[in-house]
Amino acid sequence: MKLYSLKDSSQEVTFLKAVELGLCKKQGLFFPKKLPFFKKNEIKKILKMNFFKKSYKILNAFIGKEIPKKKLYKIVKKSFSKTIPKIKKIQKNISCLELFHGPTFAFKDFGARFMSQIIFYMNKINKKKITILTATSGDTGAAVAHAFYKMKNIKIVILYPKGKISDIQEKMLCNLGKNIKTISVNGSFDECQKLVKTAFNDSYLKKKISLNSGNSINISRLLAQICYYFEAFSLINKRNRKKIIISVPCGNFGNITAGLIAKSIGLPIKKFIISTNSNDTVPRFLKNKKWEPRNTISTISNAMDISVPNNWDRIEELFKQNKWNINDSNYLNYDSVSEKNTKKSLKELHKLKYISEPHASVAYTVLKKKIKDKEYGLFLGTAHPIKFKNTIEEVLKINIKVPEKIKKYKKNKLFTYSINPEFSILKKILMEK
Ligand SMILES: *Cc1c(COP(=O)(O)O)cnc(C)c1O
Repeated sequence: MKLYSLKDSSQEVTFLKAVELGLCKKQGLFFPKKLPFFKKNEIKKILKMNFFKKSYKILNAFIGKEIPKKKLYKIVKKSFSKTIPKIKKIQKNISCLELFHGPTFAFKDFGARFMSQIIFYMNKINKKKITILTATSGDTGAAVAHAFYKMKNIKIVILYPKGKISDIQEKMLCNLGKNIKTISVNGSFDECQKLVKTAFNDSYLKKKISLNSGNSINISRLLAQICYYFEAFSLINKRNRKKIIISVPCGNFGNITAGLIAKSIGLPIKKFIISTNSNDTVPRFLKNKKWEPRNTISTISNAMDISVPNNWDRIEELFKQNKWNINDSNYLNYDSVSEKNTKKSLKELHKLKYISEPHASVAYTVLKKKIKDKEYGLFLGTAHPIKFKNTIEEVLKINIKVPEKIKKYKKNKLFTYSINPEFSILKKILMEK
């Protein structure tokens, strides 16, 4: 597969090169020159396969000869064996696609684990020491850290906004040690992201320590996420498949980009819905045609506290390539949700005997508002409720049980640096052995 830079179409690279580079020059994003396409009968076959075969088939269509088929299948199996998606029926025409059954209890495990396997594969071939630098507003960091933990020749450095991620998120992120370094930054997620971007623009640093990014800007993460949209489709009753609409809780817009790519390559999803919290740059943009990011606001759906979503350029490109109209609500609908309504929906879901968490609740709120008769609605469950235990217990006035798998994290001590958002300090840490 050939990919090009959205900032400069003359920069063209292979899939593996794009994974290695993360970002192109001038901070442009990589995007496939031409997407594969599955015809109706091929889609039908794919939908009958198990999750691994299906994922392999999809990823192979993108990656092609760059990775031998058998090797790719192994990579897929290793990446996804602990992250099988599930569907939970909530109401007659509404279900939650639960993507949080992986090792760090968030959907970020899909992308991070696939990316780590691809990078490990390359690393075994070219034997170069590399550093993965990534910013997280919550779940990315833990997923990346766990996916790369103890991989040889790969160092991981993770930045996160101090005090803005939940207790359990921080514990999962910072208790590994070994090849994982974590840094709490006195600032917002956007400031963390800015530091990462500055590092990538520092050519000396980039060469010296072979920097790579673990953010959702890495194309491998995006491709991995396409797979579970196909799986979701298989899990839905045939009767309902013609009218599926999917509401995605959006932060950096990687998840929904993957969904829209799934649609582009032939999966007949009727419509996507962008659901954000009060960090609503995109909903305002689609409404008023003006791109006006504001300061980031802290909310209870903190993984979505992002006012300059990285992947938006890719979505615009996708609509251009497909000649779809981005303002056509038959393809894309959108809304933002206040804290009050996020909590209200959490309570409503609880009444329906489903304990959810703030991110999924944002997606559910918009889905309820937009769904029409005869449509079948899915909202994405992006994290396990336990990751937001305090919030949920406060809102629902209940106690939720901590799964055994998580208990062990609670006891561990944290390994973490604490810095102000200054590039020179980060640079020093990155240069350390
Ligand atoms: C990362 C994350 C999101 C946002 O996903 P994007 O791909 O960045 O839009 C939503 N919910 C949870 C729980 C997350 O961790």
